[in-house]
Amino acid sequence: MPSGDKLSFAEESCTESQQPQAQYWNILVVDDEPDVHESTELALGREQCFGRELRFVHAYSAAEARTQLIAQQDFAVILLDVVMESEHSGLELVRHIREDLALKAPRIILRTGQPGYAPELETITQYEINDYTSKSELTRNKLFTCIVSAIRSYEQVQELESHQQDMHDVINASKALQNKRDYLGFTNALLEESATLLGIQKSGMVAVRCRQSDKNNPSQYRIMFASPLYKKFIDYGSFKLDELPNNSCSDSIRQCANAKQHQFLKNTTALYFTSSDGEEEVLLFLDSGTNTYDRLHQKIALFSTNVVAAIDTIALVEEQHQYAYQDQLLKIPNRLSFLKTVEKHLAKGTRDLQVALIDIDQFGALNDTIGTENGDRLLQKVVERLQSEHQGLLLSRISGDTFALLGPKEQLSPQHVSNNFLTPLELDGAMHNISATQGRVIINKQARATDVIAQANVALKRAKSTLRGSYQDFHNNMLKETESRVHLLQNLRQAFNHDRLFMVYQPKLELATGKVVGFEALMRWRTETGEFISPLDFIPIAESSGMIVPLGEWALRMSLVKIGQLRQSFDRPFTVAVNVSMVQFAHPGFIDMIDSALAYTHAKPSYLELEITESFAVHDLSLVQALIQQLHDRGIRISIDDFGTGFSSLSYLEKLNFHCLKIDKSFIDRISEDNTDTRIPETILQLSRSLDLEVVAEGVETEFQAQWLRNHGCDFGQGYLFARPIPRDEVESWIAENIKNI
Ligand code: C2E
Ligand code: MG
Ligand code: MG
Repeated sequence: MPSGDKLSFAEESCTESQQPQAQYWNILVVDDEPDVHESTELALGREQCFGRELRFVHAYSAAEARTQLIAQQDFAVILLDVVMESEHSGLELVRHIREDLALKAPRIILRTGQPGYAPELETITQYEINDYTSKSELTRNKLFTCIVSAIRSYEQVQELESHQQDMHDVINASKALQNKRDYLGFTNALLEESATLLGIQKSGMVAVRCRQSDKNNPSQYRIMFASPLYKKFIDYGSFKLDELPNNSCSDSIRQCANAKQHQFLKNTTALYFTSSDGEEEVLLFLDSGTNTYDRLHQKIALFSTNVVAAIDTIALVEEQHQYAYQDQLLKIPNRLSFLKTVEKHLAKGTRDLQVALIDIDQFGALNDTIGTENGDRLLQKVVERLQSEHQGLLLSRISGDTFALLGPKEQLSPQHVSNNFLTPLELDGAMHNISATQGRVIINKQARATDVIAQANVALKRAKSTLRGSYQDFHNNMLKETESRVHLLQNLRQAFNHDRLFMVYQPKLELATGKVVGFEALMRWRTETGEFISPLDFIPIAESSGMIVPLGEWALRMSLVKIGQLRQSFDRPFTVAVNVSMVQFAHPGFIDMIDSALAYTHAKPSYLELEITESFAVHDLSLVQALIQQLHDRGIRISIDDFGTGFSSLSYLEKLNFHCLKIDKSFIDRISEDNTDTRIPETILQLSRSLDLEVVAEGVETEFQAQWLRNHGCDFGQGYLFARPIPRDEVESWIAENIKNI
């Protein structure tokens, strides 16, 4: 091969390379004539070639040569007699060297006494015989020239072989990276394989900068893998390179990152790899130096191209991973990712980590008002607020308007979370007051991550049912309560299907005259064992399960049938007041349900009053307004039940077409001989007068209360004083008896 060709850096490596190398060129002389050995050594013994001396090993027969070749194989040149023990022993030895011993590098020069024994050309090429010459022709000069060119050729072949070996090493090392799908496995393999390639200790660490995990901080690195000595660096989390403490390891990594090149230093090695678009960087630090031998560096250069491919694959997988684990709208971890993190903590046995499940109150209604797109933008604002107030904690989106924060207990107090919503959020100049309800749980030996979310959810539901904007910490009793709620719901379903529910009717009287004007229909549940379960216990369960919808329809039909019968029997304009839960009211089929119940029972809308609680106030006003208007247009009257216990604002009372307020029993209870604080019932009565609304006092139990109410201009009353709720079949007899009294 001509010098200057890519592979022929034999001269440089002979002189300049620091690779530990032999000081001699070993020459094997195989000849059965001792004279030839002597003359060869005499002729060449003092010569140097490419800075190395020649060292001769002598064999006096092919058999002896074979023995020699078992002990030593690093011959640069084999000077071989053709005819020794036999006519073919020389050529036979050549075959043995090339085929049996598979020695490709040693150059073979055949020498013969008689020109007639020259081997066939075919043999010369087949066994890679490099030169053939007759002994007589071999002058000292010619022999030396022959040896020099054989040594040069030997070096080139060796170089080629070592390149092949390098390729082989690089391919093997790359194979170990090929199947890696995440940075953890990849960096572990990278450290191993790079150290093996360089022939140094597997001690060091690997830093990674990747676009997916640190999107907001593109200059952040993370130690993904470290050998035992450097394990502490793993805890660093995400960092900028200049944040690393000053030591030879950090210096070397920084140098490597700044130069964007491998750094082969005396005591350390730092390798620099990137993805093909340069967006992902992998810095490998090894704490032993490699000598500057070019071949190693070439090997690493070759290896690098495969590393790039591996990084590209990981980047792609990570990107797909992001799709699976990141909320695409808000660019924060999603529920799945949250569960994974919690799972890791559970596996590690982490204790005292707080989870706060944060649910934005009435977000659905807000979305209806400002539009989904603006709703999304508002959620983004919520995320920004939470992120800036709870830096370093994990924020995930669990569902539409529910987020989870995860962090140490002391950094995640309920007040701290609530305070995020004290100041309104601004969107296009408009200020939006938002509140959020929290369900909280501590990570503590739960069996699965889903249990953690489920527990936080139980607490959240509890908080929501108590007061929007509040919080609840999960405790195990809640689970028992939930279990018993589930049990109760199953029983309620059965009771409904087996007609164990029935309606009772509590008379409503005109206080001034004592005249019965109507009845409130109330639901009752008697179990198989004859025990009564209070509507205060089963109605909320029916509401939260949605079962109130069919249940409420049934109650309405029963009540309308009953009031029709009563009106007919007594020819009086009795009305029936039916309680309607907000779940029914907000149901899209509500108006249709009312219409069909009226049609089915042949009742007129004027027979009917609907009692709704003040919780309508938290719904979208325009929606409620439209519904109430439709009922009003049909001639159905609407009362606000339990008035004074909820949140309705005065403006709602003005805007919405109600006809009646029912003063909650808790306020009527305050009216007694020894209680002078009757401000609330007085205020409600004044208010209803000024708004021109009827008033019904609930739970009137004493004559004193009835008198007080009459004196203060309360129109109607209901209570045990007058009558308890009466079973369906007894209403007629009760009326018959009481009408006589009036
Ligand atoms: P509510 O609508 O405020 O009904 C009045 C409650 O006060 C009834 O309790 C009634 O029995 C009770 N009550 C009436 N007068 C007196 C009294 O003088 N003293 C005392 N201590 N209590 C009195 P009840 O029947 O247990 O119902 C409780 C609540 O359950 C009702 O409160 C209502 O919100 C709900 N509910 C009952 N039936 C239905 C129904 O069919 N549908 C819906 N959605 N809710 C219902
Ligand atoms: Mg009621
Ligand atoms: Mg009430």
